[in-house]
Amino acid sequence: MSVLVWVEHDNASVKDATLAAVTAAGKLGDVVALVAGHGAQGAADAAAKIAGVSKVLLADDAAYGHGLAENVAPLIADLMAGYDAFVAPATTTGKNIAPRVAALLDVMQVSEVLSVESADTFTRPIYAGNAIATVKSSDAKKVLTIRGTAFDKAATEGGSAAVEAVSGKGDTGLSSFVGSEIAKSERPELTSAKIIVSGGRALASGENFTSIIEPLADKLGAGVGASRAAVDAGYVPNDYQVGQTGKIVAPEVYIAIGISGAIQHLAGMKDSKVIIAINKDEDAPIFQVADVGLVGDLFKIVPELTEKL
Ligand SMILES: Cc1cc2nc3c(=O)[nH]c(=O)nc-3n(C[C@H](O)[C@H](O)[C@H](O)COP(=O)(O)OP(=O)(O)OC[C@H]3O[C@@H](n4cnc5c(N)ncnc54)[C@H](O)[C@@H]3O)c2cc1C
Repeated sequence: MSVLVWVEHDNASVKDATLAAVTAAGKLGDVVALVAGHGAQGAADAAAKIAGVSKVLLADDAAYGHGLAENVAPLIADLMAGYDAFVAPATTTGKNIAPRVAALLDVMQVSEVLSVESADTFTRPIYAGNAIATVKSSDAKKVLTIRGTAFDKAATEGGSAAVEAVSGKGDTGLSSFVGSEIAKSERPELTSAKIIVSGGRALASGENFTSIIEPLADKLGAGVGASRAAVDAGYVPNDYQVGQTGKIVAPEVYIAIGISGAIQHLAGMKDSKVIIAINKDEDAPIFQVADVGLVGDLFKIVPELTEKL
């Protein structure tokens, strides 16, 4: 079986989420990586070194420079004439591209794949991760998005794939890139952070996030996350959100501070190796999934903890 993997990249390097997608694709068959970008030779060279990648296709065109799904999806759909499966990481951009590819191929997408049982059978979460469905696809070509926390990351070194140039239709004229505002942070990115400190509604303001959550995160070299309530209240930006409608994370340690543990929040973090919860309500649902729980006022406990570290 031949598998085409869409590589998430910034034209110079490959983003981490791609590595789990390569591992998942490797369980299906021969892995060919597609780098669609502009001035993206650096990303293609990095993709060629990923263990398990047998060939890299480089589509270098201004139309693919910003990863616009409207331009990238038709390129992939055309290339799929030579492949049995298409695999993308279940990231924001992956989830933007894959359904369009599925629609163009007139097949069903299998989303957020957790395991590959066989060439046509996969498991995926349903009901916000409260049940795992085993699904069998009868489509001739499979289109899958891969949950990054469910697969090991392929090694970034060890491969020596050849890079082959390909071209597509280029600009479809359906969308155009206007600009981007990228939040810059010295902290690790949430989906690759080993430790995450997350704050909830109880923080009560953005200033408290800065003065209570961030010093603890800095001491631990951790990423900073948040519940949706904290995001909706404007304490922190949207890309901090962990959960069903936010990011899915599985760090070594997840510290939930002033977060009740609503099912939609748990859907994004319950696979963390060690969960530490700080909450003043001893009956808060977060304690049901926590390995370590501290009952008390976060405004007292967290500065003390940070101080002691
Ligand atoms: C379709 C849908 C999708 C959703 N997606 C997401 C998602 O992706 N992520 C997400 O997080 N939510 C999501 N939600 C929202 C979710 O249901 C909850 O509303 C949200 O997670 C609650 O956030 P919270 O725990 O910060 O706030 P609350 O539920 O209000 O909890 C605050 C907690 O802080 C504690 N507390 C208060 N003061 C202190 C103090 N001084 N010291 C210590 N503890 C204190 C309280 O005891 C309480 O447990 C979604 C909801 C829906 C309907």
